Amino acid sequence: MELIPHDCPVCERVTPLQEWAQANWDLAGLGTLAFSSRKSPECMHFHLVRCGVCDVVFANPAPSVDWLMAQYRQAAFAAGQESIMAARSYAKVVAALLPDLGSRDGALDIGAGDGAFLQELLDLGFSNVAGMEPSQAPIDQASATIRPLLHNQMFTGEEVAPASLSLVTCFQTLEHVTRPLELCRKAFNLLRPGGVLLVAVHNYRAWPARLMGRRSPIYDIQHLQLFSPLSLGRLLENTGLTRVTIRPLCNRYPLSYWLRLLPLGITAKRRLLSLLTHVGLENRNLSLCPGNLVAYGFKSK
Ligand SMILES: [Zn+2]
Repeated sequence: MELIPHDCPVCERVTPLQEWAQANWDLAGLGTLAFSSRKSPECMHFHLVRCGVCDVVFANPAPSVDWLMAQYRQAAFAAGQESIMAARSYAKVVAALLPDLGSRDGALDIGAGDGAFLQELLDLGFSNVAGMEPSQAPIDQASATIRPLLHNQMFTGEEVAPASLSLVTCFQTLEHVTRPLELCRKAFNLLRPGGVLLVAVHNYRAWPARLMGRRSPIYDIQHLQLFSPLSLGRLLENTGLTRVTIRPLCNRYPLSYWLRLLPLGITAKRRLLSLLTHVGLENRNLSLCPGNLVAYGFKSK
């Protein structure tokens, strides 16, 4: 694997960089789930620096796009119920945006996984819905109605005609791509005037990440950058969006899933899980705001 130095992925120019975390990874220790969503964290990450202008933390040097694409193509998938629950959280945000959105024709989800969110878009009355997903495994697990809407490829920005979409979404994916600003600009180009780009990311400035430090699950080999409210706002403004709004996102998951994210050893997690199972609480759902951000902006009319 070749590691390549690069400039800030949000400013896309030379900026003052601050040391953030030494590299902590070992390719031999990564399993087949390393590049899949909602896995158990391995607590591995690349060398991280922080941009002194926009506050984003990013991997520098970072692996090549070709290497990353190969990892995502072959990544396993193990997140059925959780992806449905995450999609419901995102759908609530979209539902609140509908009065400002105007049209519901044309929606694209970048990093669509098993397409759980596409089902939510259909339920909200959207037409011409599609999803881009580089891994085959989640597409194989999609329902029969959703699978034809999923395209097994990286987002290129050439999937549909420019200015033809009302909504482009990108959830927990901007951390994974080499050039997030370029991705957002390509998405912007596909929006018609008045259209919305809606994204969700982890917030490394939120209290759980600060409390857990580098043992937080957001410090992960898949995450080439980590955002804060400031850096996420800069990203959407640099994209050209207006009326940018950023706020915390709450998620509802089973207790057993929240347990997986805690910075504990496997033995401690197994003991706690068997305790939860013993008292019948492992599938009890719990809403928490653990430090995710949701942000959106409009393309000017
Ligand atoms: Zn920057």
